[in-house]
Amino acid sequence: PTMAQKPHVAILPSPGMGHLIPLVELAKKLVFNYDLLVTFIVPSIGPAPDAQKKVLGSLPEGMNYIFLPPVSFDDLPGIRAETQISLTVTRSLSSIRDVLKSLVASTRLVALVLDLFGTDVIDVAMEFSVPSYIACLSTAMTLSLHFYLPKLDQMVSCEYKDLPEPVQLPGWGISVHGRDLPDPIQDRKDDAYKWFLHHSNRHSLAEGILLNSFVELEPGTIKALQDQELGKLPPIYPVGPIIQAGTISGANGPQCLRWLDDQPNRSVLYVSFGSGGTLSFEQLNELAMGLEMSEQKFLWVVRSPDKSTTASYFSAGSNANPFTFLPNGFLDRTEGQGLLVPSWAPQIQVLGHVSTGGFLTHCGWNSTLESLVHEVPLIAWPLYAEQKTNAVLLNEGLKVALRPDVDENGLVGREEIARVVKCLMQGGEGLAMRNRMKRLKEAAAKAVSDDGSSTKSLHELVSKWKN
Ligand code: UDP
Repeated sequence: PTMAQKPHVAILPSPGMGHLIPLVELAKKLVFNYDLLVTFIVPSIGPAPDAQKKVLGSLPEGMNYIFLPPVSFDDLPGIRAETQISLTVTRSLSSIRDVLKSLVASTRLVALVLDLFGTDVIDVAMEFSVPSYIACLSTAMTLSLHFYLPKLDQMVSCEYKDLPEPVQLPGWGISVHGRDLPDPIQDRKDDAYKWFLHHSNRHSLAEGILLNSFVELEPGTIKALQDQELGKLPPIYPVGPIIQAGTISGANGPQCLRWLDDQPNRSVLYVSFGSGGTLSFEQLNELAMGLEMSEQKFLWVVRSPDKSTTASYFSAGSNANPFTFLPNGFLDRTEGQGLLVPSWAPQIQVLGHVSTGGFLTHCGWNSTLESLVHEVPLIAWPLYAEQKTNAVLLNEGLKVALRPDVDENGLVGREEIARVVKCLMQGGEGLAMRNRMKRLKEAAAKAVSDDGSSTKSLHELVSKWKN
């Protein structure tokens, strides 16, 4: 077929590397395995961060991108990340309409893929009769929570952290305390709550929902969603795990990997809070002291502290020299024990390295899947978004993560950090968790193999698009 006749899919990632990375990997499957064309329509806040430019700049043939004019939030200082993400999309709607119009006029646009925060674009796509699909780049658990939220919102009037009973939805097998529900719904008066609810109410307008999880990982929840136990929903396509191939290594890449080469097998704890997670100054210091006290090897991606946990989210980590915030003498004392890298590490290569034996993670879903695929057990240190809910799944459900206790001041203390790090890196519990990770890794490999569950489900979806 000529370019104009080839089925063409537009993908609109809302701001954040955690949205862009898995969608780019999905696009590669669509282009390489199914001979589709893909165009990314990219809304942004201010100038594009380097990490984003790197990913988009190295897209293979068959994939294009269009940057939308950046939107500004100078008029709304201090709003939460989830609100910014949603508003970036709504403030871009007229430029999205222009782009869709020209794509529809010149190509065979068969679908528009949005993420959980992009639901306002569904109406614009309808104007051009283009069907919209939502890609849930998180767990089936999170997806079912989205579908349940409108009911919960009606049923109870308290803050969810004060719910007398934990929440348990069909298929979960575990229950989640209100305080571990997603961060943006923890303050019902905040705009972030209203946006979360707004999107939750609109997800069922999509023609279908792709899910970056797989049947073998969350069998009960996926079955309950597909059996309509949470109400009438669009078809759900579990297509995961879709993870990055490791192309965005950044400036510190070679140094990190050389250092890992010199360490014993499975001896290093990798410490990273995703593309933009930040700790407070006090917490950063406790973590430093805890790592030192654990006497275990570590590779730590350090960011400058901030009161907000999402302070670097939109810049993907590029900020001031973070080492100046560490305890006095820390760098000297831990020379040989640990390596610190500012802002960004080649995560896929680090997790795939034989020297890496554990991952202290913020439980972002991409990081979690990347760890699973490389058989690396976890310490769950959730910060924002749905990470606390993921931590419950990893710790109590799948039993592949330890979760340190948070003290009455909201901090994880140095002794507690040293304890969990030793337990993961030295103890029998660490080994048991690694074995469970190994089984999940095998299940994941099977799911994405030629006749695996995720491959079949993507196949079904693409067949629908092609016809
Ligand atoms: N990432 C990376 N190097 C870093 C930090 C993050 O390559 O130093 C990648 C990571 O591999 C993952 C993504 O950025 O693919 C982060 O996504 P995740 O869902 O884990 O967290 P988010 O950043 O969205 O909170």
